[in-house]
Order: sequence, then structure tokens, then C-alpha cells
Amino acid sequence: MKMDSKTLREYGHTIVDWIADYMDHIEEYPVLAQVQPGEIKDQLPLTPPEESEDMGAIFDDFKQILLPGMTHWQHPSFFAYFPANTSEPSILAEFLTAALGAQCMVWQTSPAATELEEVVMSWLRQMLGLPEGFSGVIQDTASTSTLCALLCARERATSFAINQHGFQAGKNQKLIVYTSEEAHSSVEKGVKIAGFGKDQLRLIPTGTDFAMIPAALEKAIDTDRKHGNAPCCVVATVGTTSSTAMDPLRPIGEICNHDRLWLHVDAAMAGTAAILPEMRHILDGIESADSFVFNPHKWMFTNFDCSAYFCKDPKVLTSTFEILPEYLKTGVERGVKNFRDWGIPLGRRFRALKLWFVIRYFGVKGLQEKVRAHIQLARECESWIRKDPRFEVMAPVTINLVCFRYHPSHRTFTEEELEQINKELMNELNRSGKMFVTHTKLKGKFALRLCIGQTNTTQDHIQEAWQRLQASVADL
Ligand SMILES: *Cc1c(COP(=O)(O)O)cnc(C)c1O
Repeated sequence: MKMDSKTLREYGHTIVDWIADYMDHIEEYPVLAQVQPGEIKDQLPLTPPEESEDMGAIFDDFKQILLPGMTHWQHPSFFAYFPANTSEPSILAEFLTAALGAQCMVWQTSPAATELEEVVMSWLRQMLGLPEGFSGVIQDTASTSTLCALLCARERATSFAINQHGFQAGKNQKLIVYTSEEAHSSVEKGVKIAGFGKDQLRLIPTGTDFAMIPAALEKAIDTDRKHGNAPCCVVATVGTTSSTAMDPLRPIGEICNHDRLWLHVDAAMAGTAAILPEMRHILDGIESADSFVFNPHKWMFTNFDCSAYFCKDPKVLTSTFEILPEYLKTGVERGVKNFRDWGIPLGRRFRALKLWFVIRYFGVKGLQEKVRAHIQLARECESWIRKDPRFEVMAPVTINLVCFRYHPSHRTFTEEELEQINKELMNELNRSGKMFVTHTKLKGKFALRLCIGQTNTTQDHIQEAWQRLQASVADL
């Protein structure tokens, strides 16, 4: 059976209408899904339907059964984790990507997809002020991008010997990876998958600003050399997940260049801030990096997934990943890019389209305005918190994240008590459905994280959140 075009039109229009209403009324939904484990599954049949079901029934179940089990990431009072924001042009582009249903593994399988990806990645490179020689490719997530970087570092360090012979065949020297104790868990995951092994991951201490201490990095590298290990790769973070701390790229880059270590820069969320001339300093020293990742799907209004990976020498990337079975020998001879050799999966979605829609629709200026406003709101929020003696700011506010906790200056609490009180405060706020914040630990201290990055968050939302916070602690 085939859905006729009349039905497609009917439900296409119905669903677009629903999306438009959803976006208009999103603030009426609880930000955090207020369901219990199993509550959704219990409403769904255990076996698949034998017969065709009506689109109307399917869509009704989406609304009635599934929607209550959704956390609304596009609610402007979503302050949890890091954002994964979207925007109307991105949504529209995803319709088209789905409709075309193209699998864009090589140039020939959709020349426009490959060439548009080259163009939008060059646009992004210019927007962030990355060095001219950097080449870009879209990966699914920052985790994958970082894994690619680790694999490239491994292969460059061993002249592609591990690709060929496997880890056992290498010299007995251990390849070492360095990152800060505040780095994202994807670094550890990548180290495990790429075969370095967790024992070969060094977590470099951070200062009071939670940024990597370059002298400590240097010392760790020296120690490894003395023990006969082979320092291989440093993963620096621009905008750590806990507190958006900024590892200083320039001194770290100098150490890497001096020792010929691969430098990968993970700027998964914070990278977007570099589209602002006044924030470019966060990438100061980026020319020393071998690879760089940031996620337009976090803070650049492009729906998940879309991770922008840049590298200095794409030959290392393609040499690491290249495969050439007979059934894929197409287009190679014509000097075109085949992005299947630029990452892990063979198959690729047409992700460049949504990025193209977003950049064109907002324009660089429009994107800058949004990001600048978010940063401004975070600073305002920080200033309110600092002025209130019942609260304490827990980390420097470098961009759009405020880490803080309830900690009245006139009373003494143990760390355990503070953790308990702040956990309860967080749960109460999240249960309200009116806002969603998450937590972290900074040097062992429990902290609430309020990150401002949803596309439509305004001062009203931050003010409301602040009022809610104040009301919640009033009777503590
Ligand atoms: C979010 C985040 C990641 C992981 O991003 P994914 O795209 O979900 O894999 C990695 N590093 C940092 C610093 C992050 O904030």
C-alpha cells in the first residue's frame, strides 16, 4: 500500500499546524516530563500491529500518549544541561531532508549534499574566525568528533601502524592522552573505544577557574616520557560541561607543538560564542590545534544532530578512515570529496541543508544577536545572585552558564547539608514544570547549573526563574 498524496497533504498540513501551535504554546507544557518510569510503555501495545492503522489514530496517540512523556527542550525556561536548541528554518529543512531521503555517503550519491556541506563548513569556519587552512565536515555528535580526533592522533603518532597491524603489534610504548579533570565524559569514552585504554588517560588538574593548568600538563608529559611512555594527544576544552571553564589554548598549544602532540579542542557548546567578535578570545591560540569541534545543534538553532568538526590536515583524517571496496569505487577519479572517508559511519544524512537554512534565514547578524543576548542574560542573572547573600556563585560566568547554590552567609552548614538542601531546591523547581535546571559538582561541591541557550529565552524567563528561586528559599 502507498499513502496517497491527498492524505500526505492532509496530514502534512495538520502536523505543520500542530507544530506551529506547539511553538506558540510551548510555555503551557511542563519543561521536565512529569511521568513515572514505565508510565508511557504501559500504554503501548506489546506487539506490532498486523494491519495498517489510520494516520489520525497514530497522530492522536502521539499527542495523548507520547507528548506527556516528552521533556520540552524548546521551552524557553529549559536551563538544564546544555541546550539542544532548534528554530523554524531548521525544522523546515529537516522536512526536506526526510523527504529527499538521500544517503550522502559519497559525492555521487548527491553532489549537492557534499558541495553544500563544503560551503556551509567554510561559512562556519569564517564565522568563528578559525584559521583559513582548516577543513570542515559534519559529524553526528561531539562524542564522535572527539573519537575521530583520537583515532587520527593515534594513527599520526604511529605512522598508521595501528590501523594496519593493531595495537598488539606496536612497540611496547604506551600512547598517552591528556585532558583536564573537568573534561567531558566523551573523552574517556573515546579513549576506551580508540584502544588507548583508560589507564593511559591523564586527567590534568585545574585551577580555581576550573581550567587546565598548562604547567601541570607539561609536568605530566615529562613524567610519561621519563617512564618510557609516548605522549600522543591533548584534548583541551573550551567551555567545560560543568562550568564552561576555558582551557588556555595558547600555552597548551605551545606545549603540544613543541612535543608534536595532537591537540584536539572540544568546544561543543561554547564554540558558538566565537561568532561574536567580542568573544573570539576564547579561541585565542586555536591555530595550534590539529582538530576542533563545536555543535551547531547545541547553541546555534540547528536541531540535533549536527556537529561541526574541523581539522588542519584532512589527509590524516582520510588516511585513518579510508576504505575502498569495489562497490564504492565511484567519483574517486574526479577529484571530489567523499565524506564517507571523513568519519566513522559510511552512511550520512543531508545535515548541511538545515545549517544552510539557519545561517541564511537569520544571517550572521541575527545569530550574533541571539547569542549575545543569551550571554548578557547570564551576566544579569549572575549579578542578581551575587547581590543576594542567601546564594553563592560557584564558578566564573564565562559565557551563558551560571553555577550557583543556596548558601546563606549568616549560617553554617556542612557540605552534606548544603548538597541535601540544594538537591531539594532543584527537585522542587523542576517539579513545578515551570523551569528545568540540573546540577554538577565543582571540586566536590554541589552546584546548580542554569544555562541560557534556548532560542527564544528572554529576560522575562530569567526574571521569572530568579523569582521562583527566591520564593523557594524564602521559607528555608
Ligand atoms: C555536550 C558536550 C559533549 C558531547 O556532545 P555530544 O554531541 O552529545 O556528543 C562533549 N564535550 C562537551 C564539552 C560538551 O559540552
